[in-house]
Amino acid sequence: MGALLRDGIGRTVDYLRLSVTDRCDLRCVYCMAEDMHFLPRRQLLDLEELYRLARLFVGRGVRKIRLTGGEPLLRPGIVGLCERIAALPGLDELVLTSNGSQLVKLAAPLAAAGVRRLNISLDSLDPQRFRAITRNGDLQRVLDGLEAARQAGFARIKLNTVVMKGRNADEVLDLVDYVIARGLDISFIEEMPLGDVGHSRGERFCSSDEVRALIARRYALIDCDERSSGPARYLRLPDHPGTRVGFISPHSQNFCASCNRLRITAEGRLLLCLGHAEALDLRELMRNEADDRALHAAIDGAILEKAAGHDFSLAGDVQVARFMNASGG
Ligand code: SAM
Ligand code: SF4
Repeated sequence: MGALLRDGIGRTVDYLRLSVTDRCDLRCVYCMAEDMHFLPRRQLLDLEELYRLARLFVGRGVRKIRLTGGEPLLRPGIVGLCERIAALPGLDELVLTSNGSQLVKLAAPLAAAGVRRLNISLDSLDPQRFRAITRNGDLQRVLDGLEAARQAGFARIKLNTVVMKGRNADEVLDLVDYVIARGLDISFIEEMPLGDVGHSRGERFCSSDEVRALIARRYALIDCDERSSGPARYLRLPDHPGTRVGFISPHSQNFCASCNRLRITAEGRLLLCLGHAEALDLRELMRNEADDRALHAAIDGAILEKAAGHDFSLAGDVQVARFMNASGG
């Protein structure tokens, strides 16, 4: 194996989020503007380029890869790509984040291809609200997808919920009940200021502490030391051992000191930090015939520039022009 990926302040990167498309069948209000333009297909990494980058990063000590987007399950060839990446020697797990809309069809093939865990985004259990938050989504389709995923044998399924006052904060307990009944995990996320989505991010901000207080009204909670290799902090519910409740709190609990990840956007830009614009154009290098050594050298140079942390605040509005769907969120 090549040398581990270390940034300029000594953090080791062993987690890669690889975006396979910027397209999506939903238009979640916190992620996208109403009128989105997507990349022309030739600007997306092709399947061979995606696989090559996965192989290169696993060769440098990346142990976990998350495929994301946009909606990764809209990418033609996704199951075959999963199969190839999951088989890379040295990779501990291939996981995927999805909005669930394609899971009725794809849950079983993805599990068979070696995807170990799934994160499924779900912000409301009310069909009208779900439609309003996603601007066009069909809740039943996602719930059916979730059931298909439960049957498909993934090691773990976790829901991701972006909590917004006046939209879904009053559903926190319903969502916790829902995951407890099904033995799933859930993470509650504070909205991040990526892209001009047409509203002020501070307007509907709901802190993780407020969410925790809501849950504590119904359930005993204990902090748990265990951390995933991500920014989430977890709580256990002693009366419901099958469920963990996580919080991703970019505003109220900065997690940058332990950041272990890099992102690659669907057009092949290596993003060093979600909260900064600096990126390395890996697609250009690959399409200019760079060999593996040249790619490694470019990555080693870029990673030294990884910022110590994001500067997200609720005061200003757009802080990073790039939307979440284009970031490999
Ligand atoms: N389409 C897939 C999905 O929705 O799960 C994968 C891509 S989506 C960009 C990945 C995650 O980012 C989702 O859980 C979504 O809720 C979250 N997300 C999107 N925009 C966000 C924002 N502005 N702040 C916080 N989380 C956001
Ligand atoms: Fe699509 Fe996921 Fe963004 Fe929602 S959060 S618009 S499902 S990419």
